[in-house]
Amino acid sequence: MSQQQRMQGQPMIILGDDAQRMKDKSAQEHNIAAARAVAESVRSTLGPKGMDKMLVTSLGDIVVTNDGVTILDEMDIDNPTAEMVVEVAETQEEEAGDGTTTAVAIAGDLLKNAEDLLDQDIHPTAIIKGFTLASEQARDELEEIAVDIENDDDETLRQVAGTAMTGKGAEQYSDHLSELVVDAAQSVTVEADDGSTVVDLAFLKIETQTGQSPASSELLEGGAISKDPVHEDMPTTVEDGDVLLVDEPLELSEAEADTQVSVTDPGQLDQFLQQEEQELRALVDDIVDLGADVVLCQKGIDDMVQHYLAKEGILALRRVKRSDIEFLREVLGAKVVSDLSAATEADLGTGTLRRDEDEELFYIEGTAENAHGVTLLLRGSTDHVVDEIERGVNDALDVVGSALTTGQVLPGGGAPEIEVASRLREFADSVSGRQQLAVEAYADALEVVPRVLAENAGYDSIDTLVDLRAAHSEGSEQVGINVHTGEVENTFDAGIVETPTAKKQALSSAGEAANLVLKIDDIISAGDLSTEGEEDEGAGGMGGGMGGMGGGMGGMM
Ligand code: ADP
Ligand code: MG
Repeated sequence: MSQQQRMQGQPMIILGDDAQRMKDKSAQEHNIAAARAVAESVRSTLGPKGMDKMLVTSLGDIVVTNDGVTILDEMDIDNPTAEMVVEVAETQEEEAGDGTTTAVAIAGDLLKNAEDLLDQDIHPTAIIKGFTLASEQARDELEEIAVDIENDDDETLRQVAGTAMTGKGAEQYSDHLSELVVDAAQSVTVEADDGSTVVDLAFLKIETQTGQSPASSELLEGGAISKDPVHEDMPTTVEDGDVLLVDEPLELSEAEADTQVSVTDPGQLDQFLQQEEQELRALVDDIVDLGADVVLCQKGIDDMVQHYLAKEGILALRRVKRSDIEFLREVLGAKVVSDLSAATEADLGTGTLRRDEDEELFYIEGTAENAHGVTLLLRGSTDHVVDEIERGVNDALDVVGSALTTGQVLPGGGAPEIEVASRLREFADSVSGRQQLAVEAYADALEVVPRVLAENAGYDSIDTLVDLRAAHSEGSEQVGINVHTGEVENTFDAGIVETPTAKKQALSSAGEAANLVLKIDDIISAGDLSTEGEEDEGAGGMGGGMGGMGGGMGGMM
């Protein structure tokens, strides 16, 4: 926008020299372009055949991922509208744990279609209303398409896990990891008093280790922490021992450690040191009196205390992470002690600790009656591999958890999107006026999912869409694309299974994000609003599925 175009003669608005203003159509176009550029940047990662992105942070760290929300988190996006789209991904991640790329891709196409409607002079308010109607209807339709499963239907649950994990760097190990994920989720599943199913992921911990193949990942009863004993003379195995969890330092209190003493004769110094030693000795005596065989301390442990504990045959680990302490509390049935002098035997937990020297790990298994908690130990050759596997496993845990709690699954491979789109087109007939066009535009936008899945796998997206629509019009609502074969087929039979929770959330957050962007009709900016050609590139339509974070992002980095 040029200087001359700037609003003049409006006394209410005082803009600085650099300030710029955009209104109505140009404001909307500007925002849509920015939001779409973000959507384009992650689209090419959708589905198992999606590409990975390599992200280099400002500190030079490298992240290689296929995970939508990770990509957007790491990108240094400095444009308010683009940030709204990033928030879609974050909301999706928080609420559902999976489906971030789907949500963002749909938001992008909603905005693309909205732009066409704006070009036909349809008022944003009508578009927003239509999108809202469509979004609500879509959720209802998803509920109808959902299929009930039993909680012990391991095969389907593993397919849910596998579908969520595909494309996230663990392809060859998908079967093994899916099995672990399902076992893990089931082992923290309980039936609540009201008969509902609760999957408490707080009792499930993920640990990662580099150096071995993902195939050697395992599910452990209890926990694992990679720490060395604080003293080499300590035992490395404790069977069914009493374990103290403490979150205060086993050191001299700070006031005393900092005390300055002026010493006038050597006897005084001796006495002072003796006093310190006594105090430290008293800490150890407290621990011995409690009857602890193991001490896991969140803070530091004084050398002298280490020495005495070793002499007493007590195993001690220090600087154990808070999250580990909290998890081990469940595993061992312990309480976390903050004041040793007030601790009682009832605060101790019980469990077995075993040191694995090769892996530099302690395996910790609870033996108390109320002990619960399992650890998913994920392995991979390098940090990059393990990190990507962890992201995939996290997504899988969330969706398997939601399949268990809701007892429902959905077909995948774009089947639900095509089915909902076709149902929405029917629903549109019942909607009057211009909102009808918006409902149809919403339906079209959903088809971005199968289209991009096909595109990213190198199949002809038009052919795929035609086949899918034909199948669905004949009532085959579970037919989607299997990108491993290119076949348009029943995705349940192909083992491509999703959950209604994640999908519903993806549609809602996409719709809300699009509406947020459309509601803005005025941008008053203290800085430069120029987009330097990003509008053209961002609006590149269906484009190549491989179009990465190239030029489209230029204007907002
Ligand atoms: P998101 O971040 O949205 O979860 P993903 O990259 O994980 O994105 O891709 C999820 C999409 O991939 C879903 O629509 C899912 O049905 C689809 N999908 C997974 N496996 C297959 C497959 N074998 N064939 C076709 N689509 C698949
Ligand atoms: Mg996914």
